[in-house]
Amino acid sequence: MPATLTLSHPAPVLPSVQTVSVSDLSNGERTVALYASDLPDGYRYKRGDDALLVAWILQGADRLGLDRLRHLAALEAGYRRLCARNKATAEQKRAHAERFPDAKRDRRAGELAALVTHFASMTDEARERGGRFLLDGPCPECGDTRQVWALWAVDADADWYEEGYGPCSLCGGAA
Ligand SMILES: [Zn+2]
Repeated sequence: MPATLTLSHPAPVLPSVQTVSVSDLSNGERTVALYASDLPDGYRYKRGDDALLVAWILQGADRLGLDRLRHLAALEAGYRRLCARNKATAEQKRAHAERFPDAKRDRRAGELAALVTHFASMTDEARERGGRFLLDGPCPECGDTRQVWALWAVDADADWYEEGYGPCSLCGGAA
């Protein structure tokens, strides 16, 4: 995303045609939309700014287009998943930094999106999409075979384990 997106004037300009409502967007999508919007760096939330935050989200969604917004949000979720398990490769880190060059803005957008989620409703579809993720490139755990060799508990109480292939837990939910 070009850095110039973050340097624009602070007043949000509403898209001329609003094709999407904030309730149609998952938390991750709201985050990416805020990142891409005119949200000023260093913005501090004030009581009564709810409509302003929503306007920025719609602006960012309009700017990216829904398909790209959803794709970026899914990749972001995949990246967080990799990082949580300390599995992100250098290539994946680089790709993430290219998509979201300003880590501070990314973090701030996430905080503000969570705040919006306190007062704005979310459709079931958006909530369900929020649980999905997409890994950038092959899964570092299984190389996209979707299976890993491991010890699997047959009966953990009885301490009974068997070695073999089972579903990869890192990418198991990814398409
Ligand atoms: Zn995997």
